[in-house]
Amino acid sequence: MNKEVKTTCPYCGVGCGVLAQLDDSGRVTITGDPEHPSNFGRLCSKGAALADTISYEGRLLYPEVNGESENWSNALNHIAMKFKDTIAQYGPDSVAFYVSGQLLTEDYYVANKLMKGFIGSNNIDTNSRLCMSSAVAGYKRAFGSDTVPCAYEDLERAKLIILVGSNAAWCHPVLFQRIKQAKLDNPDLFIVVIDPRKTASCDIADMHLAIAPGTDDILFNGLLVYLDTHDEANQLFISQCTEGLDDAIKAATENAATVEVVSDSCGLDNADVAEFYRLFSRTERVVTVFSQGINQWSYGTDRVNAIINCHLITGRIGRPGMGPFSFTGQPNAMGGREVGGLSNQLAAHMAIENEEHRELIKEFWQCPVISDKQGLKAVELFDAVHDGRIKILWVIATNPAVSMPNADFVREALSKCEFLIVSDCMRNTDTTQFADVLLPSQTWGERDGTVTNSERRISRQRQFLPIPGQAKPDWQILAEVAQHMGFSEGFNYLNPLEIFKEHAALSGYKNNGTRDFDISYFENISGDEFWSIKPIQWPVTKEQPSGTVRMFADGQFYTNNKRARFIPILKNQPSNPCTDQFPLVLNTGRIRDQWHTMTRTGKSATLSAHTIEPYVEIHSSDAITASVQQGELVTVSSAWGTIVVRAVISDAQRQGSVFIPMHWNDQFSSKAYCDALVNPSVDPISGQPEFKHTPVNIKCYEPNWYGFLLSRRKLTVNNSNYWAATRGRGLWRYEIAGKDKPEDWAACARSLLCQHATQVEWIEYFDSAVNRYRGARIENGRVESCIFIGPDCNLPERDWLSNLFSTDKLSDDERIAILSGKPAKGKKDAGKIICACFNVGLNTITDTIIENNIDSVEAIGRILNAGTNCGSCVPELSQILVDNKKTT
Ligand code: SF4
Repeated sequence: MNKEVKTTCPYCGVGCGVLAQLDDSGRVTITGDPEHPSNFGRLCSKGAALADTISYEGRLLYPEVNGESENWSNALNHIAMKFKDTIAQYGPDSVAFYVSGQLLTEDYYVANKLMKGFIGSNNIDTNSRLCMSSAVAGYKRAFGSDTVPCAYEDLERAKLIILVGSNAAWCHPVLFQRIKQAKLDNPDLFIVVIDPRKTASCDIADMHLAIAPGTDDILFNGLLVYLDTHDEANQLFISQCTEGLDDAIKAATENAATVEVVSDSCGLDNADVAEFYRLFSRTERVVTVFSQGINQWSYGTDRVNAIINCHLITGRIGRPGMGPFSFTGQPNAMGGREVGGLSNQLAAHMAIENEEHRELIKEFWQCPVISDKQGLKAVELFDAVHDGRIKILWVIATNPAVSMPNADFVREALSKCEFLIVSDCMRNTDTTQFADVLLPSQTWGERDGTVTNSERRISRQRQFLPIPGQAKPDWQILAEVAQHMGFSEGFNYLNPLEIFKEHAALSGYKNNGTRDFDISYFENISGDEFWSIKPIQWPVTKEQPSGTVRMFADGQFYTNNKRARFIPILKNQPSNPCTDQFPLVLNTGRIRDQWHTMTRTGKSATLSAHTIEPYVEIHSSDAITASVQQGELVTVSSAWGTIVVRAVISDAQRQGSVFIPMHWNDQFSSKAYCDALVNPSVDPISGQPEFKHTPVNIKCYEPNWYGFLLSRRKLTVNNSNYWAATRGRGLWRYEIAGKDKPEDWAACARSLLCQHATQVEWIEYFDSAVNRYRGARIENGRVESCIFIGPDCNLPERDWLSNLFSTDKLSDDERIAILSGKPAKGKKDAGKIICACFNVGLNTITDTIIENNIDSVEAIGRILNAGTNCGSCVPELSQILVDNKKTT
């Protein structure tokens, strides 16, 4: 019998509702939940491909100690004894947890309780430090609490939406679709995108301000001055609900006194800046959406407050269709904030510095101590691992060897760590290789609990899959370690419901309206109620049992005097300026179809089709300066590291800046994890690293040969200096290149592709004059693998060849054509995949546009289906239409 379960997508902070169906044969079907108020049935490409990513391939299924399988009891006891001995010898601050916004709130709650309440250190930090801690710090400075004031429905009620430092089209695709639909429903809605790059989000923009990197705070400081001098300040709101405006204006005037000064500093036209300021001042319902492009700077907190200041001066907060709105990166970054997952805060939005809060939690948990000393934030924490201050590190559900800045240094730290525990669902990640103990965690579909999305909406993740091997939920692993350490009383939970109820009770404990986070309504709910709980926005109290759509409607904030604070924003600079040696600014970020370090999305052929290789996007002028051609391999170097990636030349990139996606790791490439390049400078308040500004240079890699391999089996590619692997439909695809030329290409190709085969039909072609080799292995009439080598990167397109792997018998035409790498005359090559859902390629789309004289994305969808499912490719379809118009 089919079983349908309502759950929540485990990827981004949009928090889309998902219907998961498991049939009798074990097949999983995923659709969007039409009743979930975050997405109303929509899913992006990642959500739509969830079923591809839940196979047991590569899973960690049993505990391991020093590389050997171990039973749970021994493994947990070993960990507990190590913790006890180390704490006894070096004190509680000699141990640390590094956790993740992928955890459920219940996992997070137990981890935080164990470290802060019972071990007695605040050394628990989370990878959410890397994505939104500046937003947290900015909100707390302005409002006295980490409160996101807005709701998604404000996007539909706004008249002006500003997307600043946010490529929502790729990073929060369902919210982008909601904005797009809002614009269709309301043609007066004006969209401004502020971003150095022309991203896919510009597809719906009425105005794109291609701002100089790192100057958004000046733009918003200028706006503050403009609003003040143009009599746009909301005097009533300012006088009754805020403080500190004069100091903020004074500071802003120092670096952004006039439109001209701002334009000059931000690299924008006077007229564009003036028009943006006019738009903001004359539109009451403004939502300013910000994300990692604002947060990931060494002055990210100031940048957040520069935005909030403009909403406070106009009183545009707490009412429908307006407010400063941080889109969070991870599915449960907000849940982590609720339970104190950051090392500088306590559970239930309480503060380490507040003695009353510390006492309150101590009393509630009945724990021995709550330290009054902030814990180490992510970058400091790995520094402390590196220099030996931290003796034991427990990494849970994250991959810092790839995702931390200065990643090679972090790898060194992990390798030096005296005792490293890693809890993960995957056996082989760049981080698990360093672990002394590996613990198998349950993952999405197997575990049960809650997550909170960007609009404070708590939703359920529910189990619908069987549990593989001996995997356990993270809360249980943590609780059992706590029990082995002797903390039985506080950790004898039987299920996530018990943890959720305790979390809810703590949020209401002696709260009386003094703290924003309060879900005490749930403190006594039953198991049935927990199972069926509907998505709801906190606070949820007895007075507000249906939750709270938006905050600060009464103009009261959580500061001591209930007034919101304007924060003076002075001139800021990135920590590391560009130099002659490193003249370009590196900006890192996400691509459309991958999630974080690819440990799950890398399993999906559908999601891997859109971008098959790590790359650096560079402006054409910078490419000329660096003598780099389209498609060549380049080394990108900074003062912290070097990687090798493919060059993509694009004038969507701002001159002087380059972009590299954050996802690739050692499982998918020879060395392309871009965080090896990223400087470890952090914001002094939030501790968030400066991922958006590292000076780099780019040089040609100059291999002596380029090539690619397609194979039905996964290969070990050991004779090329560069490689990048991608999963395709029924095949693995490898881009390769090398400095050394093998003496015998034919022997080399056979050794790679025919490792275990005895009877091999091999067709090949070699032109020694130009060092061009092509070979294909055929077995039982179908292609098993093929290899194409050439002197430069101009090799045949891979798409047609890849499609041959989905046929069981090559036709005569295909067999003849295979070494040419393109279809026989009269046959078509679909081209690079644009629509991942329906596997529609660029050539097919272009031909369809021309043949049918098409001028709209909808018309493409009607004929090819492209863009009609998740909609993630719609901006690219629009661009193809534009490009096509230019060439006809
Ligand atoms: S936008 Fe996409 S990745 Fe994000 S929660 Fe929704 S379906 Fe998942």
